[in-house]
Amino acid sequence: MVVIMQIGVDEAQIQNVIERLNAHGFDVHRSSGDQQTVLGAIGVKPDFDIRHIRLLEGVSDVFRVTAPYKFASRDWKKEPTVVDVGGVLIGGDEVVIMAGPCSIEDEDQINRTAAFVADSGGKILRGGAFKPRSSPYSFQGLGEPGLRMMREAADKHDLRIVTEVMEISRIETIAPYADIFQVGARNMQNYSLLKALGRSGKPILLKRGLMATISEWLMSAEYILSEGNPDVILCERGIRTFETYTRNTLDLSAVPVIKAKSHLPIVVDPSHGVGLRDKVIPMARAAVAAGADGLLIEIHPDPETAKSDGPQSLYFEQFSELMTQIRLIAHAIGRSIEEERATAH
Ligand code: PEP
Ligand code: MN
Repeated sequence: MVVIMQIGVDEAQIQNVIERLNAHGFDVHRSSGDQQTVLGAIGVKPDFDIRHIRLLEGVSDVFRVTAPYKFASRDWKKEPTVVDVGGVLIGGDEVVIMAGPCSIEDEDQINRTAAFVADSGGKILRGGAFKPRSSPYSFQGLGEPGLRMMREAADKHDLRIVTEVMEISRIETIAPYADIFQVGARNMQNYSLLKALGRSGKPILLKRGLMATISEWLMSAEYILSEGNPDVILCERGIRTFETYTRNTLDLSAVPVIKAKSHLPIVVDPSHGVGLRDKVIPMARAAVAAGADGLLIEIHPDPETAKSDGPQSLYFEQFSELMTQIRLIAHAIGRSIEEERATAH
């Protein structure tokens, strides 16, 4: 921590700050110029509230220099984490594509989607059975019968499954069907859910909250990691800004920032990020170029009739074309994306 004293403070005020820092267990290195004194407080105390020092007389500003998270940080683990989802590796050289409908609607819809995702080179099927809808009157998902349909469809095509869990009481219901538990943006700071998922023994896809800073997001990852679950995949899905043209503002700069600050893999969800089908495609391309370890994309056999998020769901042909484009982009940056299956389309 660095403490900047105000210009012209007296020695007693400086000594008081030094004493208080020592009392909190910090070693203090003082640097005084003609006008100003700067104190370097050494000691790793991730939970120290810097306001204790900011409030002291004569203090101009205080900056934290060590991250408040530990297990999520690059300092703690230098090599990138690769999450193994039943043989599908997330965070390695390959960019892993996760795709599927916003919500599972019926057998035909999820079967056709699973077949198309697999044929196109996708590895993970997405689909919600318990949906966090903004309105209680909107479709809430099929619940467990939907999960059963999705598991069958995924198994037929050797796909893994990512699906959302909204509450602790559903973890046991969802666990037999899911390969990855998704924590939705609205639940990023549901700390009791995060802790429970830290003990679930399954990989977690942790979406960034609508109003969350990168640091807060990593603190949420820390909740899962500190319970003993190392398999956290971060997912950038857009944050709320003053811009209203797009549903959210997809913060692609989070990708290189996360890569610098953390060893955890990061995937990008351009569908919720922009909320408009035609804007999803360029942002998906940009996400791969930015270094994302995977994409989470909504697609639907008939987006016009989708029960949720149709306007941001890609038509199958669009998804297929996107896959061709992002393979080239991945290749250009030394990565790869699974090829289409020979039987495709
Ligand atoms: C979803 O992936 O279907 C979803 C609801 O996402 P988010 O939590 O990012 O809004
Ligand atoms: Mn959706």
